[in-house]
Amino acid sequence: MRFYNTLTRRLEEFRPIAEGRVGLYTCGPTVYDFPHIGNYRSYLFEDLVKRFLAFLGLRVTHVMNITDIDDKTIRKASELQVPLAEVTRKYIDAFHADLRALNALPADHYPRATEHIAEMQALIARLLEQGFAYEKDGSVYFRIERFPEYGRLANLDKGSLKIGAAVDADEYEKEAVQDFVLWKGKKPGEPSWPAPFGEGRPGWHIECSAMSMKYLGPHFDIHMGGVDNIFPHHENEIAQSQCANGVTFVNYWLHCQHLIVDGQKMSKSLGNFYTLGDLLSKGYAPMAVRYLLISSHYRKLLNFTLEGLEMAGQALARVKNFAFSLRNVEGEGDADPELAAALDKALAAFRDQLADDFNVSGALGAMFDLIAEVNPRLSALTRADAAAALAWLERINSVLGVLEPDERTALDAEIEARIALREKARREKDYARADEIRAELRRQGIALIDTPSGVKWKRE
Ligand code: AMP
Ligand code: ZN
Repeated sequence: MRFYNTLTRRLEEFRPIAEGRVGLYTCGPTVYDFPHIGNYRSYLFEDLVKRFLAFLGLRVTHVMNITDIDDKTIRKASELQVPLAEVTRKYIDAFHADLRALNALPADHYPRATEHIAEMQALIARLLEQGFAYEKDGSVYFRIERFPEYGRLANLDKGSLKIGAAVDADEYEKEAVQDFVLWKGKKPGEPSWPAPFGEGRPGWHIECSAMSMKYLGPHFDIHMGGVDNIFPHHENEIAQSQCANGVTFVNYWLHCQHLIVDGQKMSKSLGNFYTLGDLLSKGYAPMAVRYLLISSHYRKLLNFTLEGLEMAGQALARVKNFAFSLRNVEGEGDADPELAAALDKALAAFRDQLADDFNVSGALGAMFDLIAEVNPRLSALTRADAAAALAWLERINSVLGVLEPDERTALDAEIEARIALREKARREKDYARADEIRAELRRQGIALIDTPSGVKWKRE
């Protein structure tokens, strides 16, 4: 499979570092407000990539951080006059509920910045020791002059850049390339932690370097985010990580283009956004939202309209109707080898399209061609044929994730992945999370049976 690597600006064949395994880090939400569906375009593209890697037989370890301390979260807490943790808890819960509604597979780890302060401090200490960072007025900054590769990801023209004085803000534009902050000296009213280089709190960029390294090691396969993360966030992550570890940080960088509204990025600051809740309360189905957000190519802008959402719902209805009809087939007799061959061919086409830089419209085309071919012959199918076609659809849906689990199309692998997460929660004595997973599965018609030889499951 090949896809576009932002770092090299070329389509590249994907080769994992360790055979059969993939380390994947995706930048998660900054939990200062409800995410909007623009954010979910990025998160759902990441989910599609992860599902497709699993479809190809790769074992993916997915880490998605939660930024629960930065300029924006602190500003919100101070506006509301409530503790930071209270603000972030509310939006973390909302984020997970949205991800479940949108049928995104859970990550293996959701590390929170405030729970990894020690790792960030250790990383900053290493950068200071080696002269890649310096202290100034109680804060610590990264010295970008010491990293000649700085600007490679964002393709900055170093010649024409004037490097400015050190910058304290987490977010800034390319025109303002500056030594960026790793640790911000304590300010009144802000949360802070004691540190060898002075009491304070982390900058945003160091969070992702420290947490990705902790869970995936200093060198891993794929790092993803929206295109607005390329600069400065990901550029800074590379600088920090490579200088501290002396090895390549990430082999492949994959960035998702924006969801736009009337030509402008959907964003909180422009006020042109919908949350998932807004759309659900207008009567749209979460799976239609998912379908719309994943169905165009990730490197193209996607213009959001309610009309587009209706069309996504209609396209999805064709798939659901097909599944429904298959479930009602009653014909007796053997399976038709020609149908089996057509299913295999369509699945191969679906895979090949996605393997070519995630050409999702091509993949959907392969699916709809098969549906159009079989639909007129439904009355002639046998139950064996219908079972084969449903199994085909489950394979496809293991990647697209647009058919609701309660339609009994959930793939065994998905169920088993959730059971493994429940087992992990139990081992970690997080019984609330374990019960939550069990309840989720029950809602999907999956019953868990604890036996002496481990957990078994059945469809009820
Ligand atoms: P934030 O919470 O602002 O850090 O954003 C979380 C993720 O959503 C990042 O990966 C952003 O790049 C991505 N994102 C933000 N706005 C959009 C948008 N309009 N379209 C697609 N992705 C977005
Ligand atoms: Zn990040």
